[in-house]
Amino acid sequence: MSESQRPDSLSPSRASDFMQCPLLYRFRVIDRLPEKPSEAATRGTLVHAVLERLFDDPATDRTAVRARSMVPAQWDRLLQERPELGELFAEDAQGERLARWLSEAERLVERWFSLEDPTRLEPAERELFVETELDSGLRLRGVIDRVDVAPTGEVRLVDYKTGKAPRPEYSEGALFQMKFYALVIWRLKRVLPRRLQLVYLGSGEVLTYDPAPGDLERMERKLLALWEAIGRATRTGDWRPRPTKLCGWCDHQSFCPEFGGTPPVYPLSVSPAASAEDGQGRMGPV
Ligand code: SF4
Repeated sequence: MSESQRPDSLSPSRASDFMQCPLLYRFRVIDRLPEKPSEAATRGTLVHAVLERLFDDPATDRTAVRARSMVPAQWDRLLQERPELGELFAEDAQGERLARWLSEAERLVERWFSLEDPTRLEPAERELFVETELDSGLRLRGVIDRVDVAPTGEVRLVDYKTGKAPRPEYSEGALFQMKFYALVIWRLKRVLPRRLQLVYLGSGEVLTYDPAPGDLERMERKLLALWEAIGRATRTGDWRPRPTKLCGWCDHQSFCPEFGGTPPVYPLSVSPAASAEDGQGRMGPV
């Protein structure tokens, strides 16, 4: 048993995993089962890399032509850093699929210029790793794509999405990640971000939200409740599968009881008294 397998902090993606399916969270965080790279996720990484590095150039050089031209070089760099990504196109002998995939990445990069003007932006931070510990001891962490700070000191947090914007009734779910980051910045720097901005390159839309303190306090309570539930499952080993249509994207169906599979042996010790302890207000999976 390795202590490193115990959850010790929460990020927006892992929190979303648990909300989607507790067993998926276990597979990713505790069992650390490997996952195959996907074309969509890798394209997202590639597009993010281009949008981040474009700001290394002087403002006047940040053109769509320049950004498009960066795509192949950034793909080469990603391949060098993570050679396993080459598997994605291992059976593409003619290179046609790779060419289509790269041109889709170029299209997404180009669409950004219809949504924002990088010649007029000077981000305060790019790909900013943030981490903070709440009074309860819960550690929150994540990476914010871009932080803009206005001359007035107002802060805007920006995240790029290569997919399409959600329908309005699902925008709350989309904002979860941004409110999470806003809470981290608020607690860490004592600054309430003025605006949260999601830039959807897939559909060419921008979703914004101006958070109030009450929003972030609600988010904190929600995360604490989530962390308690994760702690309970960690201690008891009771990680329920929650099948949804998203199972189609899950790499772990062969280990999932919903699909006739058996999970690996639970690698952590299980506490039979765990459920009694949970009512005592103890936070986190310790
Ligand atoms: S297949 Fe579905 S239910 Fe099973 S672990 Fe994956 S997401 Fe959860």
